[in-house]
Amino acid sequence: MARLVMKFGGTSVGSVERIKSAARKVKREVDAGNEVAVVVSAMSGETNRLVDLVSAVSNIHDAREYDVVVSSGEQVTVGLLSLALQELGISARSWLGWQVPVKTSNVHSAARIEEIQCAEIISRFRENQVAVCAGFQGIGSDKRITTLGRGGSDTSAVAFAAALEADRCDIYTDVDGIYTADPRIATKASKLDKITYEEMLELASLGAKVLQTRSVEMAMKYRVKLQVLSSFEDLPGTLVVDEEDIVEHQVVSGVTYTRDEAKITLQQVADKPGIAALVFGTLADAHVNVDMIVQNVSENGKATDLTFTVGRKQVDQALNVLEKLKDKLDCKAIVPDPNVVKVSIVGMGMRSHAGVAQTMFSALAEKGINIQVISTSEIKVSVLLAEEYTELAVRTLHTAFGLDAT
Ligand code: ADP
Ligand code: ASP
Ligand code: MG
Repeated sequence: MARLVMKFGGTSVGSVERIKSAARKVKREVDAGNEVAVVVSAMSGETNRLVDLVSAVSNIHDAREYDVVVSSGEQVTVGLLSLALQELGISARSWLGWQVPVKTSNVHSAARIEEIQCAEIISRFRENQVAVCAGFQGIGSDKRITTLGRGGSDTSAVAFAAALEADRCDIYTDVDGIYTADPRIATKASKLDKITYEEMLELASLGAKVLQTRSVEMAMKYRVKLQVLSSFEDLPGTLVVDEEDIVEHQVVSGVTYTRDEAKITLQQVADKPGIAALVFGTLADAHVNVDMIVQNVSENGKATDLTFTVGRKQVDQALNVLEKLKDKLDCKAIVPDPNVVKVSIVGMGMRSHAGVAQTMFSALAEKGINIQVISTSEIKVSVLLAEEYTELAVRTLHTAFGLDAT
């Protein structure tokens, strides 16, 4: 007997038929003698619809009310899945975040789980009851409903697995595992049997939305055994594992991209001490996240371009703040460019192999793709490119690092 958390994403509960099919998968685990907690997302498209409703009604962004609205999609699916299980003769009940309770911070729309009190769920396991828990939602210390950020049901699932000390957390989704690149744009992407927590963490934070970044962080911290697998087919998925569980590391394990960033260039800004501190200090004070930064060498020692990226949704906020600094910066112009993509390669093997970045740059150069900004860390290299090259760049790098499926 094992204790399992089974998480079903939006597409996997996207219709009545799919909810019934998810119920059959749960029944199979129960019939095998396992204790099961299920975590579900809202039906596909539902959370987007709710977000649009909020924007249509109000420009005043009250994140507490936003959370009340957008968390409601999961209330529907926990109820429906519980009913579908009962139809199959399985004892099941739904749990909303506040009922468990899933206690979170009070940062609405981006809350962090602090504690899950699951003694009652565990005691009901002994009566063979399945717990069907709403993903994405929790309750703050002020007793108001919170949500965990888009894609947050993955994090709910891992947090339940940690709290329940589950033997495994299975993430059922619309692809049959973690691939070397998003299979929707890289048709030659191949499925990985295993990937390390570290690599998956980088891939997720650099754009691979198959798992929410925070869920990987949490799985790594609490040593949760994580598997990503198909909710439509019975195929083995991809296991997220420790470094020592992989015998031979690929130099590059995956290629990923994100369109969530925008570039801002301060043209001909004064080249003197204190400018970078002023720019980035002011942006930080305004809660604007800066990612990549490049400062060109000034030709005459007087003026230089300073380029950096911020979240695409934060461009206006960044421009507002920077306009106010314009006199102090003495720059010619502040130029935003939202039409950029950040493409990254990730791999543990990079730590012991030289020339990886060079291979990346040459492969892009051969296709005539200009690199605008570069950033590197121990196991990844990221480049900023014009957005129109997204697909071409991902496929080119996928081939260049020998990842194409044979
Ligand atoms: P769910 O609704 O089940 O949470 P998501 O849409 O959040 O599903 O995540 C699954 C999607 O992630 C896939 O459909 C796929 O397009 C995308 N994806 C991006 N990168 C990868 C990758 N490296 N491997 C697998 N899927 C990926
Ligand atoms: N329903 C939420 C969303 O669409 C949470 C999730 O699906 O993980 O972001
Ligand atoms: Mg998801």
